[in-house]
Amino acid sequence: MTTALIIGGGVAGPVSALSLQRAGIQSVVYEAYDRTADGIGANLVLAVNGYRALLELGVGHLTAGFDIPRYRYFLGNGRVLAGVRNGNPLPDGTVARAITRSDLYTALRDEAINKGIQMEFGKRLVDAEVTGDGVVAYFADGTEARGDLLIGADGAHSAVRRIIDPNAPALRYGGMVTSSGYARGVDVPGERGTEFMYLGKRAFFSYIHDDQGDIWWYVSPSWPDEPTQAELAAITPQQWRARLLRMFEKDDSPAVKIINATDEITPPRPIYDLPHVPRWCNERMVVVGDACHAVSPSGGQGVSLSIEDAVQLGRCLRDVTDIPRALAHYEEIRRPRVEKVVHFGRSASKSIAVHGQGRRVARDLFLPIAFNQKAAEKDLENMSWLYDHTIDWDAPVAVGV
Ligand SMILES: Cc1cc2nc3c(=O)[nH]c(=O)nc-3n(C[C@H](O)[C@H](O)[C@H](O)COP(=O)(O)OP(=O)(O)OC[C@H]3O[C@@H](n4cnc5c(N)ncnc54)[C@H](O)[C@@H]3O)c2cc1C
Repeated sequence: MTTALIIGGGVAGPVSALSLQRAGIQSVVYEAYDRTADGIGANLVLAVNGYRALLELGVGHLTAGFDIPRYRYFLGNGRVLAGVRNGNPLPDGTVARAITRSDLYTALRDEAINKGIQMEFGKRLVDAEVTGDGVVAYFADGTEARGDLLIGADGAHSAVRRIIDPNAPALRYGGMVTSSGYARGVDVPGERGTEFMYLGKRAFFSYIHDDQGDIWWYVSPSWPDEPTQAELAAITPQQWRARLLRMFEKDDSPAVKIINATDEITPPRPIYDLPHVPRWCNERMVVVGDACHAVSPSGGQGVSLSIEDAVQLGRCLRDVTDIPRALAHYEEIRRPRVEKVVHFGRSASKSIAVHGQGRRVARDLFLPIAFNQKAAEKDLENMSWLYDHTIDWDAPVAVGV
């Protein structure tokens, strides 16, 4: 039986393992961190296209998190721009889902473990090599593992990407940082199921109501020059909170109230993407998820693309028995779509960035005309390629390669 070594136990790793299992391939997932290193972490939205791909694998509905079927956009002066659906619902009514990162990781990991997939924690890959008809992976603890192929699901800073191609491109800085939190005991306008997005005078602010009455929020302030780790580390939590409060004090939005009701705010984190990785695979190794196409968080698609990758990789390995050809076929199927989505994410980031007050004032005059309700609905129709994307697990892949 073919055995795959999967590096990374985030999203793409466990879902790849589930996908391969359905394809009749056994795998072991190696995760660098300890199993208990979960924490509550940031929150994210799983878009309908990713949710559809997850269900296609036979994974049940997520019990953690809550539905988030709509967005509503505002200007910082409080003016409503438009309200739109967060993609079209699936035939069974499934819509996008808001979930904490740790709940999503835990759900996927538990699903894999419950289905008999072996996961090993505290295993940081440091090197790997192709050995004729197989692969060997070397870990920081001095151990090694052998298999028929190796799947790099090790995230944006992927080691596997660089093992496949030492000249692989670096991450591209996105010109902004992001920070988030959970506010408790605060009463702000809005209904559950809607994400409220404010194109503020100085920065972008978004919030949603969860099922317990708490508010999940994040901000994406522009930060033109990539900050160094030392620069970010020098900002104390109190300084960052004060900076955020100043950023939103002139807006007609609940941002200040929400920030004040938040105990812990995540430190500013630069955002990156990865528009084009020339080599996704060699004869026995391949990258999936952020390891081959990190997307700006503004696109809300990183998790969904990782799940789609995993499903497509499973189909290719099921139907193309020669491993190098299966990996090449997977790349051929996925590359055009993921590069288009990364481009979309970059555009989404640019559209929420604030570059000086002159341009911001012009934006506030122009946007109510250009981005009204009708235009927003038209935009959603034009995004059908993204949200309505369907992968049929049972359909054989075209084995012409
Ligand atoms: C602030 C923020 C907000 C986001 N919001 C959204 C959102 O709303 N919607 C959305 O779809 N996406 C969002 N994303 C993107 C999303 O989180 C990623 O696209 C997604 O997690 C990618 O999954 P992955 O499995 O490829 O990588 P990861 O989730 O990063 O998992 C990689 C795993 O590999 C492990 N690992 C790394 N190196 C090694 C090694 N050498 N050996 C062994 N294990 C290793 C890591 O510990 C990690 O567990 C957001 C990202 C950020 C930063």
